[in-house]
Amino acid sequence: MKLWTLATLLAAAAFAAAVFLHADNKPVMSSASPNPSTPASEAAYCPPDDTKSACGLPSKVVIDMSKAKVQRTDAEWRARLTPEQYRVARQQGTEPPFRNAYWDNHADGVYACVGCETPLFDSRHKFDSGTGWPSFWQPLEKVFIGEERDTSWGMVRVEVHCSVCGSHLGHVFDDGPRPTRLRYCINSASLNFLPRAEYDAWAAKNSPATPRAE
Ligand SMILES: [Zn+2]
Repeated sequence: MKLWTLATLLAAAAFAAAVFLHADNKPVMSSASPNPSTPASEAAYCPPDDTKSACGLPSKVVIDMSKAKVQRTDAEWRARLTPEQYRVARQQGTEPPFRNAYWDNHADGVYACVGCETPLFDSRHKFDSGTGWPSFWQPLEKVFIGEERDTSWGMVRVEVHCSVCGSHLGHVFDDGPRPTRLRYCINSASLNFLPRAEYDAWAAKNSPATPRAE
């Protein structure tokens, strides 16, 4: 089978699955609306359709939790998370495009892990990918993002998770905008958004360099 035929079939399968997951969603193939303030090269950004919809499929990777700093029992995870957050973050599920908390959130702030509060992504690195999921061109700190090769659904994808607690986040693709050309396609259910002022207060309180008031 020719490569392009396989790619077309995979794109069709991914599209069908995404539609199945959420029947009345907007078409996942819709293109990003260019931001008028972005340079022409950025406005022309348009990732290939076959990988755009690949965010819509769940993962089946084995995440090595032996070195994870935050570890909880299954009962503790269920008590901490909503059923949707548990399904996505702890069972490598996915959420419907355009029907999740942050895909269209343009507020200034930081996105923290739903499982352990580690700050993972910054709104300054968020862009409109047109996929219906929050998308970032880089994480806040690469050390907090673990990666696993994901070969489920007949595709080769790179699964990303929080390295501190092992919560599944989404996938990273190499069709993002400049300067990294990466596209972190992340489930809203795995994130908690903190407005900038709230994040700054949290960071000041948790920074090891901050001298404690006597
Ligand atoms: Zn975490």
